Amino acid sequence: MIEISGVSKSFGAHEVLRGVDLSIAKSEVVCLIGPSGSGKSTLLRCVNFLEPYDAGDVRIEGRLIGYEDAPDGARRPMNARKLRDMRREIGMVFQHFNLWPHMTAIGNVAEPLRRVRGLTANEAADRAMAILTRVGLAAKADAYPSHLSGGQQQRVAIARALAMQPRLMLFDEPTSALDPELVGEVLEVMKSLASEGMTMLIVTHEMGFAAHVAGRIAFIDEGRIIEEGPPRQVFHHSEEPRVRQFLQTYHDRNSF
Ligand code: ADP
Ligand code: MG
Repeated sequence: MIEISGVSKSFGAHEVLRGVDLSIAKSEVVCLIGPSGSGKSTLLRCVNFLEPYDAGDVRIEGRLIGYEDAPDGARRPMNARKLRDMRREIGMVFQHFNLWPHMTAIGNVAEPLRRVRGLTANEAADRAMAILTRVGLAAKADAYPSHLSGGQQQRVAIARALAMQPRLMLFDEPTSALDPELVGEVLEVMKSLASEGMTMLIVTHEMGFAAHVAGRIAFIDEGRIIEEGPPRQVFHHSEEPRVRQFLQTYHDRNSF
């Protein structure tokens, strides 16, 4: 479903991704973990081409995103409309929920359905309501974001992404901005998505969740994936000093 190979990316002289290889199969859940500044967000943003990568390939279902190979062998930026079409297949959820403050929960979910998918107001409202119900927020459909908790806002953001019927979902630290008691409700929604077979790439510091839901953990350090494997392997049997050190620090802080 996602095939990342040899992806590199620099900001000025700073090489943030240094030849990343990572593949994710359909219905697979991969959790990406690693220290702050290691390139997690940048990698995620390269997958939907919010961030152009400098070298390598990111393929979604076999199709290169962001570039087209020209007959002369060079690579050109992809036509904007084709890029938009590809992006529609990819849902993204951020740490900060980015809801429209002047719209209700249902408005936030329905609006892109009208604007992007061309549904009528009624169709969009019906679909939005069905999806809010799925994330447990039917009762809050008419509430504005400022009247919702962080956990509820994030569930609306997930609903908004799901409404577009994406084929895969990217999550960038979806619970990091939440008070601890609100983390669980968001993770529950993500678990249910996983069990329904959604393909997901998740940046998270919730190791318990990652151990439970991920088929695979990828550990990134200084722009390289230095270890990849089943949670048991990475969390309990890693021989990579940097992985062990990261987990130890995490352990000490969170006593999980
Ligand atoms: P992570 O998500 O793992 O914390 P990021 O991918 O956000 O790491 O960032 C990796 C590195 O790239 C950091 O050193 C960060 O400062 C740098 N970086 C990220 N985005 C930009 C940008 N737009 N311009 C310049 N440097 C950036
Ligand atoms: Mg980040």
